[in-house]
Amino acid sequence: MTIREVASFAAGEWVAPGQGARDIASAVTGEVIASAGNSALDAQAMLDHARGTGGPALRKLTFHDRARMLKALAQYLDRHKQVLYDLSFDTGATQADHLIDIDGGIGTLFVFASKGRREMPDGHVYLDGEVEQLSRGGTFLGQHVCTPLQGVGVHINAYNFPVWGMLEKLAPTILAGVPAIVKPATSTCYVTEACVRLMLEADILPAGAVQLVAGGLGDMLDRLTCQDVVSFTGSAETALKLRSAPHILENSVRFVAEQDSLNASVLGPDVDPDSPEFDLFVKEVCREMTAKAGQKCTAIRRIIAPEDRVEAVIEAVSARLGKTTIGDPRKETTRMGALVSASQKRDVLDKVAVLEREAERVHGDPEDFTVDGADAGKGAFLPPMLFHCADPDRARRIHDTEAFGPVSTVMGYRDLDHAMALANRGEGSLVTSVITHDGDVARQAVLGAGAYHGRIYLNDRTSMKESTGHGSPLPHMVHGGPGRAGGGEELGGVRGVTHYMQRTAVQGSPDHLAAIAGQWVPGAAEVTGPAHPFTRRFGELSIGETLHTEAREVTLADIEHFAEFTGDTFYAHMDAKAAERNPFFPGRVAHGYLLISFAAGLFVEPAEGPVLANTGLDNLRFMKPVEPGDSVKVRLTVKKKTPRTEDYGEVRWHVTMTNQDDERVAEYDLLTMNAY
Ligand code: NDP
Repeated sequence: MTIREVASFAAGEWVAPGQGARDIASAVTGEVIASAGNSALDAQAMLDHARGTGGPALRKLTFHDRARMLKALAQYLDRHKQVLYDLSFDTGATQADHLIDIDGGIGTLFVFASKGRREMPDGHVYLDGEVEQLSRGGTFLGQHVCTPLQGVGVHINAYNFPVWGMLEKLAPTILAGVPAIVKPATSTCYVTEACVRLMLEADILPAGAVQLVAGGLGDMLDRLTCQDVVSFTGSAETALKLRSAPHILENSVRFVAEQDSLNASVLGPDVDPDSPEFDLFVKEVCREMTAKAGQKCTAIRRIIAPEDRVEAVIEAVSARLGKTTIGDPRKETTRMGALVSASQKRDVLDKVAVLEREAERVHGDPEDFTVDGADAGKGAFLPPMLFHCADPDRARRIHDTEAFGPVSTVMGYRDLDHAMALANRGEGSLVTSVITHDGDVARQAVLGAGAYHGRIYLNDRTSMKESTGHGSPLPHMVHGGPGRAGGGEELGGVRGVTHYMQRTAVQGSPDHLAAIAGQWVPGAAEVTGPAHPFTRRFGELSIGETLHTEAREVTLADIEHFAEFTGDTFYAHMDAKAAERNPFFPGRVAHGYLLISFAAGLFVEPAEGPVLANTGLDNLRFMKPVEPGDSVKVRLTVKKKTPRTEDYGEVRWHVTMTNQDDERVAEYDLLTMNAY
């Protein structure tokens, strides 16, 4: 059998294993299948390549350009993922596990691609929040903006997700405009290397955007600056060692850590063994114990059930685990494959010995179990093991020892407060689930445990068919947790992108802010166009282009006509006495909807033209009532332009309606689709 040489991709060149290379064994057969690592790798050259070539090329592109690259990358990987499936079996993973790692990673790219296009501008500066009014007259404003860091994201990944682990960090990094150096865990780096080869083959990313270190990082972390980010996933011990290095501390190098986590799942006090939530709970627990052979950062390590239902839980979970076929992950009948390596298996058994001091093993015997289609003596196989801890209050190890395999401990609780206190004994975790059909239980759980957990997953009969599973971090939602879980945050949609950007509080005049953001803000210069803006194509319109309309009087007859016509005969418009009793109104007033209809009547150019559709209003506010006899006029300004498809783009117009005294009566953003 040939041994696969896992190369690094450094400064644009593939570098084969060399001095200091490590052997990698198959999780299934124990045979050496690959070798990786080269102590001659030039860390400084890699950093220079990322900072000097990858970063500038990425920063030239807009968020939308980079989002499109992520989508193209996802499509390419999706077409070629069979290569990754084939290789991944040797990590001990089954086909179902590949869906989590490989398809999950590709799905994450797709979500970031879509969020980048929908939630970020087609520009270079991401605006964080609204403009802050810092002066009475509106000539001095504030705006938080995010710009890409000018360094590199060094991604240190765990062995359990060689593809997802890379892509979930890469997607937000690239979208931010920052190059990455990926360092996968050595034991499964052959899968990551194959994925990087596919990405380079696709020829979508600019040179220097992604590099790979197979094996050790050398002294790379000692060469980082305040413009770099280390994103780490792995053990608490390694995280502590790396993040506390003097160079990292001295330079305030951002260090995002996702590490050990004693996740819990709580069976709600409302759930009886014959309710649908009970089965759901048992299924989720068993799935989390056996998926990836329990080597998931989010796996359920502690099963917390009402004291009088502990026995039923043990019985049901044991029965289900008993049906798990353990064996060669390539076999379709296999439900649980192997752990990643013999050393990981030893580590789990050592941790199991620690748990056994406080809990009794009630299911699964590591000395006596069947392995289908593989040699149990050679592969890193273990059976699922369930423990019961009778005194979880006095116990310590069950709350702080993460056996990173198919291992979980059941414990009883007296009431919901006690359940949450037990969940919080993990001292910070990635996820806790609560299976309950009672909204009050859900609320109390979030109030009691939210502070200790990065994610709270609730499930019941309503959501069980569509729910994504306790263990699945979703790209839309934050992944990470306080304390033992590392104190970091990843993913969470655009939040995850900003981890690779600097947030800067910018203060200045409206024109300063408009120039930086590429969008008009109230108070900035207005541009007078050569014709009515509705006659101008998307490409012709300038930011700040403004139309001031004529004024029109609002009469009592208008209000009554509108009321009769629409059926909106609310008293504030129709009943003078009642309206006067209302503290907000001087008497009968115009409908807000009448005002925005009049606004359209004032600014619209009726002839067929480049405006294709009105797609909505944002941030509509009515500021001052309009009485019969008042007159209103409108200012319509091009605030922002966003290309959407090949044929049209979205124009965001700022609309301000004022009265005869120039007081603002209504303000909103109008969205239209305009032909190029
Ligand atoms: P490690 O912390 O040993 O390794 C994680 C990553 O850090 C790997 O890429 C590893 O590379 C790298 N690394 C280790 N030492 C250094 C160093 N000095 N400088 C730079 N990089 C370094 O974790 P493992 O993957 O070996 O897993 C061990 C335990 O960690 C598990 O048993 C489990 O308890 C926990 N774990 C927790 C996870 C979670 O998300 N909660 C995920 C995975 C593991 P290399 O492989 O080359 O050593």
